[in-house]
Amino acid sequence: MKTIEKLLIANRGEIALRIMRTCREMGIATVAVFSDADESAPFVEAADEAVRIGPAPAVDSYLCIERIVDTAIRTGAGAIHPGYGFLAENAALARACAAREIVFVGPTARAIELLGSKLESKKLASGAGVPVIPTYDSIDDAELPVLLKASAGGGGKGMRIVRSPGELAPALESARREAQNAFGDDTMLIEKYIDRPRHVEFQILGDQHGNVIHVLERECSIQRRHQKVIEETPSPGLSPRLRQKMGEAATAIARAVDYHSAGTVEMILAPDDSFYFLEVNTRLQVEHPVTEMVTGLDLVREQIRIARGEPLSIGQDAVAHHGAAIECRLYAEDPASDDLPATGTVVAWRAPRAPGLRVDSGVRAGSEIGIHYDPMLAKLIAHAPTRDEAIQKLARALDELVVFGVTTNRELLASILRHPAFRAGTIDTHFLDEHGAEVRPDPPAKDALEWAACALTALSHERRRASRRVLPTLEPGYRSNRFADQRVVYRAGEDTLTVEYQNLGDRVLCVRVGDREPVEVSIARCGRDSIAIEIDGHRVSIPVAVDGARGFALVGGQTIELVEQPRFPDHQAIQVEGGCLAPMPGKITRLLVVSGAAVTRGETLVVLEAMKMEHSVRAPSDGVITELCVCVGDQVDADDLLVVVKAAD
Ligand code: ADP
Repeated sequence: MKTIEKLLIANRGEIALRIMRTCREMGIATVAVFSDADESAPFVEAADEAVRIGPAPAVDSYLCIERIVDTAIRTGAGAIHPGYGFLAENAALARACAAREIVFVGPTARAIELLGSKLESKKLASGAGVPVIPTYDSIDDAELPVLLKASAGGGGKGMRIVRSPGELAPALESARREAQNAFGDDTMLIEKYIDRPRHVEFQILGDQHGNVIHVLERECSIQRRHQKVIEETPSPGLSPRLRQKMGEAATAIARAVDYHSAGTVEMILAPDDSFYFLEVNTRLQVEHPVTEMVTGLDLVREQIRIARGEPLSIGQDAVAHHGAAIECRLYAEDPASDDLPATGTVVAWRAPRAPGLRVDSGVRAGSEIGIHYDPMLAKLIAHAPTRDEAIQKLARALDELVVFGVTTNRELLASILRHPAFRAGTIDTHFLDEHGAEVRPDPPAKDALEWAACALTALSHERRRASRRVLPTLEPGYRSNRFADQRVVYRAGEDTLTVEYQNLGDRVLCVRVGDREPVEVSIARCGRDSIAIEIDGHRVSIPVAVDGARGFALVGGQTIELVEQPRFPDHQAIQVEGGCLAPMPGKITRLLVVSGAAVTRGETLVVLEAMKMEHSVRAPSDGVITELCVCVGDQVDADDLLVVVKAAD
């Protein structure tokens, strides 16, 4: 039996953190490797040691086998866990580890190679007596519909469904091109297309003593572009008999290659309950947590035990479902624009907590979501006694999840979970094609927009109140003329939204959003990242965040972003009577007046610090301050409007 004292994780983000969690439990020290783009990522901080291995592009960092293996040697890590993605199914890494006497936490290089090719693994499955999807040698004998697939494929790349003869040749050509670009190999498979299939996969575990078991199935039929977004176990509608048959098929394949470590046998289940082998993933899967939650097993722990040469900790007979678990993948992508990956900075991130709810994430407020890596931000997994309860818990968790700053598929996931067909378990891989329009998130309802606008207005009011030093007893926005409302113009998506408000004192504002009736908003509590407001006796606590001109609020499960428009977009064009402008770019260090205050000509109103010097902005005439546009600490540009003095008659 081998000992592993220190383990290097050749991966990043949530998977690196996930592996570290188990290592900590097992008393194993961890080494993270990171690229320049990840230098301030949470996983780098969480590791016991972290080593910079190269620039952002994965080919220069996370995919550099030599550098990773050298790092393991240099740091004294006796083992490497590849996680998933990157080098997880790379036989060369397994081989390099073996050559340098490093334990590879995964299967043998031979198993990875045999199972890595869709063509070879099909032969192997067929030899083990498992039904495989019929393939055709050439397009001439193909019986339509067919699915064109890259043999070296993954992630749905290089795949085309062909339903009519005319589409065949051009589809083959473009799939080849895509495969060549993505995998450097344009070998294609022409497979019979199974209509309305379900994707059902079995988690397998094998040790180095010849024990092989399956740890139940996962249903992964909710996919977009042939990629999974929601996964669950048990698979709805899978009879115990079929589960047993498919499970036996999965273990037969694993036995045929003397598989050890964790792996997944993916299968396609046709509407008539016939099933076909699809492929084997020789690694941990993104969706492994659902299996862990229903079985109580820790699959990373099993992988490490197997790699150390220990026997499996559980026999087939002891494997059973305890309740149901369901996972969804939160992606930085825009469902409204063809699921295009979204980039940006995460302004706020708060995952909900509840018993039976697990959130595996690698992001936090401030994380940059760039173009270099997979745009998955997190996975949310709910476990409950029944499928219905697990779904409800997960949908609610999505509603509560705060993710501001980057567009995500959060609302889409919640509406899939709430769709009647999904709830009924009548799902197949066409679900999103068929119900896509019904589950696309709606633009925010007017009520939600109103709550968001009121919350952000109340927040900015409270913040101004808190930052005011002079005359603290005077309310901000106090006006001698109570009817002169303050006005903020926001951009809400494509629309413009005007918000007018008036401070009624006592933490009560009168707010008018767009053309709606004005409402009285009382501020019940104002925290750092949420504000509780009450409108008409209805009190709601709303998560909020502000990042420059962008304000965010989470209302009724919808993220609403309101971007404050500059009050005076063109300084040259708009001359404000009595307006005092910033003489140069700088920072406001003192405010000596409040709205409504009477001032005399030449009196200092605002002090601005620029280029290490203080500059006073003085009243141009005797009069009253009618507008105070800045707070202490604000950064201003030259010609920004600071104060408006209405000259005395
Ligand atoms: P990749 O390795 O690119 O992920 P897979 O072979 O695992 O590709 O297939 C991905 C998905 O494509 C499956 O989950 C399934 O939804 C669909 N698929 C694959 N093969 C077929 C087929 N022959 N008929 C119908 N759907 C298929």
